[in-house]
Amino acid sequence: MTRRGTTYRGRFAPSPTGTLHFGSLIAALASYCDARAAGGAWLVRIEDVDEPRSSDQATSAILATLEAYGFEWDGEVVRQSRRGALYDEALERLVAQGEAFACTCTRRELEAGRLGPGGERVYPGTCRDGIASEREARAWRLRVTDEAIAFRDRLQGWHEQRLEREIGDFIIRRADGLFAYQLAVVVDDAAQGITHVVRGADLLASTPRQIWLQRRLGLTTPSYLHHPVAILASGEKLSKQTGAAPLPIDPLPTLLQAWSFLGQREPPARPASVGEFWSWAHRMWTPSDLPPVTMLPSPR
Ligand code: GLU
Ligand code: ZN
Repeated sequence: MTRRGTTYRGRFAPSPTGTLHFGSLIAALASYCDARAAGGAWLVRIEDVDEPRSSDQATSAILATLEAYGFEWDGEVVRQSRRGALYDEALERLVAQGEAFACTCTRRELEAGRLGPGGERVYPGTCRDGIASEREARAWRLRVTDEAIAFRDRLQGWHEQRLEREIGDFIIRRADGLFAYQLAVVVDDAAQGITHVVRGADLLASTPRQIWLQRRLGLTTPSYLHHPVAILASGEKLSKQTGAAPLPIDPLPTLLQAWSFLGQREPPARPASVGEFWSWAHRMWTPSDLPPVTMLPSPR
């Protein structure tokens, strides 16, 4: 699908912990339109690295819904649950570089840490200089410094975080042995040659950690656009956890709703089909019309 001369590679990366809902449709639509408007490729990656929370049933349901809604992705769907070897390799490299370390802290010990500005517990650095031999290594963390990690988001503008102060050395492999989202997403975006990340603003606070990881692993940093996310009257993000309804069978009204949620110009007449909607959407996609974010990034 890539037009000659363009190198844009975007992706949609749902976690299969439930079916698609309006919130995830927005992320799918924004990333798809942004890729196609640029003549780029659009990939689908199933983020089932958190295997206990993921299911094959949800994966199949997500792909079936994407198809029913007229999304056409490029290449094979990639599943994080099959990519452990890549994550292992990255972890080994970080350990060899002396940047990843084993952490023996229990949940209870960590709860004593102070809260950072984003509402996340800041890791106080307890294990960064080595652990007592009788204590059991639980998670793996990546060492950070206090230098400012900054990037310019295509919609949100300049964003900067000082990881040591705001986050602390963060987890790249969890105590239960599963690789952390932050590590998997960075390894996969690089392995898939992603040039443009378009995703919800709830992930804005994760981006500096991902940039930090990219630098440690010698990977290039893609361009980022964090779009507004659907929030409930309670202020919570619309998600499976907050009881978002599955998407209706009839795609067109919901696609139009998602399109207008993203501040995009209404088609002059109601599209006659899903295909007609997409050809309008790919032509008319205007990222500068995206509304500003009305929510604070939530911790993850
Ligand atoms: N899997 C993540 C989610 O569903 C998205 C990750 C990303 O786009 O970087 O929230
Ligand atoms: Zn520790």
